[in-house]
Amino acid sequence: MDCIFCKIIKGDIPSYKVYEDENVVAFLDISQITKGHTLIVPKKHVKNVYEMDESLASKVFVAVPKIANAIKKTYNPIGLNVINNNEKPHQSVDHFHIHLIPRYSDDNFKINFINRQEQFNPEDYENIRNKIKRNI
Ligand code: AMP
Ligand code: ZN
Repeated sequence: MDCIFCKIIKGDIPSYKVYEDENVVAFLDISQITKGHTLIVPKKHVKNVYEMDESLASKVFVAVPKIANAIKKTYNPIGLNVINNNEKPHQSVDHFHIHLIPRYSDDNFKINFINRQEQFNPEDYENIRNKIKRNI
């Protein structure tokens, strides 16, 4: 399979690994959106969050606080974003990965959380809630 992260996991192409255990690898994102930007990936190839079962999810997500705290200890950022992109428009590598992006006061990285609360009434929230709930 032609997956760049599988190649990194196997050591077929170089990377800057910061952590590895039997289930996951964490390595520096080559783009370094901010200093310390790290990816956590499962060793098992799954495309995205929809393909993860609960067991794999728990094995991968358990690494998040471990790596986040290491980044915090190293660079003392003002904050840290945990981001996972699935499918379009933002997923560019089809092997599940979690971005840990430490934040600094001058980092120029923007996440646009738009508050649309005034466009929704209680009935809208109920409808949305019930539709999602039915599919769990
Ligand atoms: P996403 O856009 O969420 O799919 O993120 C994919 C990330 O993988 C991007 O931030 C890339 O910079 C990163 N990336 C791609 N190739 C490599 C590589 N060879 N080593 C480290 N990071 C990579
Ligand atoms: Zn892969």
